[in-house]
Amino acid sequence: MKVMKFGGTSVGKPERMHDVARLINADPERKIVVLSALSGTTNALVEIGQAAAGFQREQAQVLINKLANHYHAFIRQLLKTDASQQIALEIIKEHFEFLSIILRISFSESLNKDILAQGELLSTKLFSVYLEEQGIPHVLLPALEFMSIDAEDEPQLLPIRNRLTQLLSRYADTSLFITQGYICRNSKGEVDNLKRGGSDYTASLIAAAIRASVCEIWTDIDGMHNNDPRIVKKTIAVEQLSFDEAAELAYFGAKILHPTCIWPAQQENVPVKLLNTMQPAAPGTVIQKAPSASGVKAIAAKDGIIAINIKSSRMLLAYGFLRKIFEVFEKYKTSIDMVTTSEVAVSVTIDNGTNLKRILRELEPFGTTEVENDQTIVSIVGNEIAETKDVLGKIFEGLTEVPVRMVSYGGSKHNVSVLIPSGFKIKTLQALNRKLFGLE
Ligand code: ADP
Ligand code: ASP
Ligand code: MG
Repeated sequence: MKVMKFGGTSVGKPERMHDVARLINADPERKIVVLSALSGTTNALVEIGQAAAGFQREQAQVLINKLANHYHAFIRQLLKTDASQQIALEIIKEHFEFLSIILRISFSESLNKDILAQGELLSTKLFSVYLEEQGIPHVLLPALEFMSIDAEDEPQLLPIRNRLTQLLSRYADTSLFITQGYICRNSKGEVDNLKRGGSDYTASLIAAAIRASVCEIWTDIDGMHNNDPRIVKKTIAVEQLSFDEAAELAYFGAKILHPTCIWPAQQENVPVKLLNTMQPAAPGTVIQKAPSASGVKAIAAKDGIIAINIKSSRMLLAYGFLRKIFEVFEKYKTSIDMVTTSEVAVSVTIDNGTNLKRILRELEPFGTTEVENDQTIVSIVGNEIAETKDVLGKIFEGLTEVPVRMVSYGGSKHNVSVLIPSGFKIKTLQALNRKLFGLE
């Protein structure tokens, strides 16, 4: 059994949805298909939630009506028969009435999660109507019945596996299942989600839960590229990556994958393929356990990083000092990405400033702190790159005109990371593309 996940752009236009149906129907293997919301929908739902949170009900209603119109136009092109159009209209009515009702109830964070869930619920239901119209047998599996996160917001594979196996056992003769990406239930049983871009995570969790033959992530580009194609003109697809390399690239900003979506597939050793819906014959990128060829594979960049420097001439060399500092971050559930130390100071980076003020207050007894916002981590990822000749030299040649703030080397054999002010990101990615790949 396999998993095929289609992202927002792959289902964002009626003709794309037609292509997706053709693609899954042409493949004889039993499968679970994971769908994202139509492109633009989750962003629109975020705006609706923000308007509702700010007591701007009229504005929220305007946004809801605009989105509803988009869906009305969408189904007119998606579906042929009046009967299926009628069913689709009822689905749209149900979900948009729900959104309007929400505006009349007191707003809360958990209600906001309900708002955000509407995108995936709509896309899967409308796709199911289209499959029905095409006479393609399938079952719609509600993700809210099996996908869950614990009190720490972490998905737990075992309960997901148990629930999913039980659900699937009811449909022994079915070979096509459709389900929602992104959405889940939390430990209180409320509707929740796996954070933005989370449909990739859903796909990987399902693939691990059912020990799928492969987890295919279908998107709008022919695989993981060697650099961010939104920033650098000439980039090329990487044929093969190890799980570790892909996980580092995803975590350090390669938007094609959700930051933590690799671990479930890796845990059950399910290969992940990144494929292009618009070019299904292109080889894409295969991510698997086997080490890939050695050398640099790709560069990724993660913005919104905050650097904190803690200076303490007295205490730094004392044992237990770093532990005490790290405990402050642990207390506020804030993970540290990079660390450097010297005799008199330690610098760390975080990507979540929600509790920054509290963290800084608790760091006061340890020394003086300085904070730098708007930093970017640029990661150079590959197999054994820390030991590959010339790589470090070329990286530093590419950085001659960049004020590098921190360097992380040696923590992993797959990654060399540098911290730079975000204003230098474009220049850095372009220079490294030239130096490491000979691409302009
Ligand atoms: P989906 O909606 O299918 O989940 P995403 O927009 O989340 O698609 O991810 C695909 C996009 O990721 C591409 O269109 C591309 O612009 C962007 N991207 C950023 N870095 C990379 C990279 N290294 N390789 C490929 N795509 C990348
Ligand atoms: N629809 C969600 C988002 O836009 C999840 C996803 O597309 O992966 O973030
Ligand atoms: Mg995505």
